[in-house]
Amino acid sequence: MGPKDLWIKIIEKISEDLPRAQIITWFKNTTILENSEGTLKVGLPLPFFLGWHQTHYAKKTLEAAKNIDPLITGVEYVVDISLTDGSPLVIDLIKHFPSKETRKLPNRNETRSKDGVVSKILNPSYSLDNFITSPENRLAHAACQNVAKYPGQNYNPLFIYGGVGLGKTHLVQATGSEMIKNDPSRHVVYTTTENFVNEVIQGIRSKNMDFIRKKFRRVDALIIDDIQFVANKERSEEEFFHTFNALFEEGKQLIITSDRPPQELSLLSDRLTSRFESGMLIDVKMPDYETRLAILQDKCQDAQVFINQDVLEFIAFNINHSVRALEGVLKQAIANYELEHTAPTVKSVAKMLKTTQKKEVKMVGFLPNDDQPKGAVTMELLIDSVADYFTVPKSEVMGQSRVRDYTLPRQVIMYLASTKLRMSLSKIGRALGNRNHTTVMHSIGKMKEQIKNDRQLLRDVNAITKEVGIH
Ligand code: ADP
Ligand code: MG
Repeated sequence: MGPKDLWIKIIEKISEDLPRAQIITWFKNTTILENSEGTLKVGLPLPFFLGWHQTHYAKKTLEAAKNIDPLITGVEYVVDISLTDGSPLVIDLIKHFPSKETRKLPNRNETRSKDGVVSKILNPSYSLDNFITSPENRLAHAACQNVAKYPGQNYNPLFIYGGVGLGKTHLVQATGSEMIKNDPSRHVVYTTTENFVNEVIQGIRSKNMDFIRKKFRRVDALIIDDIQFVANKERSEEEFFHTFNALFEEGKQLIITSDRPPQELSLLSDRLTSRFESGMLIDVKMPDYETRLAILQDKCQDAQVFINQDVLEFIAFNINHSVRALEGVLKQAIANYELEHTAPTVKSVAKMLKTTQKKEVKMVGFLPNDDQPKGAVTMELLIDSVADYFTVPKSEVMGQSRVRDYTLPRQVIMYLASTKLRMSLSKIGRALGNRNHTTVMHSIGKMKEQIKNDRQLLRDVNAITKEVGIH
């Protein structure tokens, strides 16, 4: 077996229990440079791969290699910057590890009919499936699903409102795509209000308003995005009003988005707002922390990059006003990553946020351990001390028991690890019997509430911090 085939086999083996994104990120442009006397010399394309491979993949690589060729007894790493895309030594990972799930819609995002009606859905990557739901947007998502299935029937008009970057355009375009997918003969038109206004102006100028009218009144579903922009544009509003009525009377689906509820669209005529209010009004708000984190993880998977959980948590924690901003920060982090060949860290992202975000960047709980002063208290010591203090066995604190005698010390540990040791949620979770970071976050939140009302608990916590030396 040649070195290239051997390397493919090894990566295949390793990939059995790792996410594909990790393989694509960290095994890109790697190769076996030499295989002699039982030692594999593995070539890495960039210096920063070295530490990562040594700590994360060396053991797995050796195991996999031994499994395939028992004569192999060691793995050695060498950085060789001549290993780049297209180099004859490296393998095309994307080809060997094709993505199993394709999220993209099939390439039928445009249908055209004789009379010039074009149903064009702008962004095929917006789907109802890849919209992540949370209590803040679940209702809007469900209504869109229903409308996509039964247009013109249950929720008409559907009016979705909320601040910028919260997923309105994503939802309504996805709904349009879905409607076309369910029935390709349907004429679905998505238009921004700006585009609609432009068409009306053009129609007036070319004295061809009839054409515009016909065009919009022949559709099966009309989606109009950001209706607030029609305010004060009298003629466009008038046209829209008539189009709306015409379609509505024929039972055609109307979907409207806006940055605020109808009653606050004060510059819009009352007759139009009352039409909107007669339908289904749903707001979208900023998703909670867990959802923001899930969105980031999803986007990483789509982009096929692997970013440290701590970093994602840090971004999700700090960006809480817009999903678009959340994505923006992630994209920026990925771009820097690709430009500078350094994996984003909490520190590097914090630096980036400080220059780009107006709001204060909160670091608490995210400083990596190596930022602590020498001789800092370790998690190990903290766990021991808390277990001792409450006179409970350490194994129970680390375990799964839900008895309050054990959950309380556990929560105290999480709380102190976060607020005093400044450990990230996922690190705390790992150190405490492999708990999920969301569980940790929940417990810390609960602890903070309890301390406010329970003076004895506050005294206990203070006593522990004194004893451990972290007050
Ligand atoms: P709006 O129209 O409300 O200003 P967008 O629909 O343009 O917001 O959303 C901004 C970005 O955030 C888009 O790239 C969109 O895909 C993404 N996004 C927003 N909400 C979600 C969500 N719940 N799940 C996945 N992606 C989302
Ligand atoms: Mg939008």
